Amino acid sequence: MRSLPVLSSRAPLQCHGNDATAAMKPGQMPPRSVRLSLTDRCDLACVYCRPHRQDGYVEERLDLAAWKTMVHGLVAAGVRRVRLTGGEPLLHRDVVEVVRFLHTLDLDDLAITTNATRLEKLAQPLRDAGLRRLNVSLDTLDPVRFERMTRGGDLRGVLRGIEGAVGLGFDEIKLNAVVVRGENDTELESLVRWSWGRGIVPRLLEVMAIGEGANLKDRVVSGSEMRARLDHVLESQEAVREADRGPARYVAARHDGTKKVGFITGTSDTYCKGCDRLRVASDGVLRPCLATNDGLEASEFARAGDAEGVKQAIALAWTMKPDGDSFKGCTEPSAADVSMRGIGG
Ligand code: SAM
Repeated sequence: MRSLPVLSSRAPLQCHGNDATAAMKPGQMPPRSVRLSLTDRCDLACVYCRPHRQDGYVEERLDLAAWKTMVHGLVAAGVRRVRLTGGEPLLHRDVVEVVRFLHTLDLDDLAITTNATRLEKLAQPLRDAGLRRLNVSLDTLDPVRFERMTRGGDLRGVLRGIEGAVGLGFDEIKLNAVVVRGENDTELESLVRWSWGRGIVPRLLEVMAIGEGANLKDRVVSGSEMRARLDHVLESQEAVREADRGPARYVAARHDGTKKVGFITGTSDTYCKGCDRLRVASDGVLRPCLATNDGLEASEFARAGDAEGVKQAIALAWTMKPDGDSFKGCTEPSAADVSMRGIGG
């Protein structure tokens, strides 16, 4: 895989990429939110994410004990919200155990992003282990299109998984659909209505020029165009962000104020300012930004059970976070070399 940084494991506090100083910049908030890429493996190969299913995986992933140390270091560094992602986090054999452990930490938020291929089997165990929120990725309700967009996926199992999760008592289920012009952009309203009918919050994403998405720049449908196409079902109010809930902006349904649609506009309107997100890749590299390959190796600390070492590595990694005022996220050239499933999308 071309995009993950190669760092010397004997020099764990070495930055890869931007210049960094050991101290946090004045006025800089510590990371509050983290995405853990439990595994870079995935059983799908979505057209905007990876070129094919054989594009390679990292050699050494963190094991359960190392993840626990990593998380203790993250919490000590100030992290309060954790999302498990990947790759496909439900492919990780210890995913339920990881959730059970995270649940003991009394975090402000604990969520998973999944393609739902294994949700039919795992939704109940995950809920029982303490998972609160679920984001499912689903771009189409058409089985043929689903197979094409995911390069071989089976829609039926995914729908069974999502339908089964509804009613298990999750605080919230969201649906993420990446909108690709000439492919699923005819399905915006059906995806929205399907979600609303199940108490799910639909969110429509612009294709970002990250990884394979960089080859789809002419297929991006902007958030404003999506919004215009849904004008007849949405209020005409300005889309608003929700505090501590990431970059999505929401608009209420026209005839039912309890329903809404989220728009994630990483391409037409980048949202780096105020970003408090850190990512940890499955091999233990700390990744301060989704749109660069900069990273800092922290696996040695995690594998040695050294949470304090992890905490110090986080402080250093955080100094590598690009300045959100001038940096423009996935519109920067660095984004094309990033592997979304490696870094934890
Ligand atoms: N496998 C899990 C899933 O499918 O939800 C988690 C990992 S996946 C990389 C996380 C999210 O990133 C998915 O919602 C996916 O659609 C989105 N994604 C991947 N590549 C993207 C791109 N180039 N632009 C926009 N969203 C992208």
